Amino acid sequence: MIPPGSTIGILGGGQLGRMMAIAAAQMGYRCHVYAPEQTSVAAQVSAEFTCAGWYDNRSMAKFVAACDVITFEFENVPVDPLVNIPEGKLLPHPRALETAQDRVAEKEFVTELGGQPAPYAPVAKPKDLPAAVEAIGTPGILKTCRDGYDGKGQWRINADTDLSSLDLPDAPLVYEGFVDFEAEFSVILVRGADGEVRYYDSAENVHDGGILALSSVPASALIQSQVPAARKLAAAIAEKLDYVGVLTCEFFATSDGPVFNEMAPRVHNSGHWTLEGAATSQFANHIRAICGQPLGATHTTAGKVEMLNLIGDKADAAHNLLEDPLTHLHLYGKREAREGRKMGHATRIEPR
Ligand code: AMP
Repeated sequence: MIPPGSTIGILGGGQLGRMMAIAAAQMGYRCHVYAPEQTSVAAQVSAEFTCAGWYDNRSMAKFVAACDVITFEFENVPVDPLVNIPEGKLLPHPRALETAQDRVAEKEFVTELGGQPAPYAPVAKPKDLPAAVEAIGTPGILKTCRDGYDGKGQWRINADTDLSSLDLPDAPLVYEGFVDFEAEFSVILVRGADGEVRYYDSAENVHDGGILALSSVPASALIQSQVPAARKLAAAIAEKLDYVGVLTCEFFATSDGPVFNEMAPRVHNSGHWTLEGAATSQFANHIRAICGQPLGATHTTAGKVEMLNLIGDKADAAHNLLEDPLTHLHLYGKREAREGRKMGHATRIEPR
């Protein structure tokens, strides 16, 4: 067990790290953030900050030596520089990062465990695209295998799309058939160091332009009927990876059952509502799990929850949301409100 007073290292400096660090501080831990960007909203609320590149071996070694346990808030942290971290000190295990960083590897992994992803075809080189589109059909979505998030690195392909006109990177891609879904939802679980698994209620998620816009709980009856199968898959993923911490799996609810979209080996935007709406937040439970502490209860304490993301300039007048006494405002401390940038979120909690 890593006792309070110890130092938790966080790889990545964004809002997820910020909310983890706040939860950790509440339990008496110190956080040390490692991130390449000079301004870090996680570092704003942490005891220590190392601003260095992922491949700066000396800084990484010093950081690893200074921390008692290390976690990540960003799934695109490169795995190579992490290989020298002693076994068990980086949680979840970096094999979860490896699996989640490559969309094709992730889909193969999930299929082996009995999951159903969207129909897909790997596109190793842009010249392979026409064959992939022919095999899967249109409409579909072409995605970069690596480094995509929040709808970045994605191209919608319709029957009349001129494939040769697309400006594609010379990197592995995957072409996915468009899933005709009724709704989207996520399964968020926490797995403790002893293998105990607890689940949060699944939120119904609405995306806008590939970015999460809104999460609400309780989810629709259709989603609730698909949650048991989705949880079974998420638990199998966690078990197979010997996962410790919070794991998120995103699904499409279809007339044919839950279709796996992707996993995030970390706390997730669709779980921000747990800060005020669940017995223990996803952030507190992630810290408890990686520190070898017993997990907290995950049941929903609110009657109805709505979490709204404040993206770009939507955050400018966010303080007005506080006129509603049931709304909780979270602003991440980011200075520049660029288009598509997550600046904060607001959660409306209706009592039971
Ligand atoms: P992703 O970054 O892969 O999670 O995609 C972001 C969002 O784009 C998803 O949450 C969906 O709303 C939409 N999307 C991605 N892939 C598909 C698909 N194969 N079919 C339908 N919608 C998709």
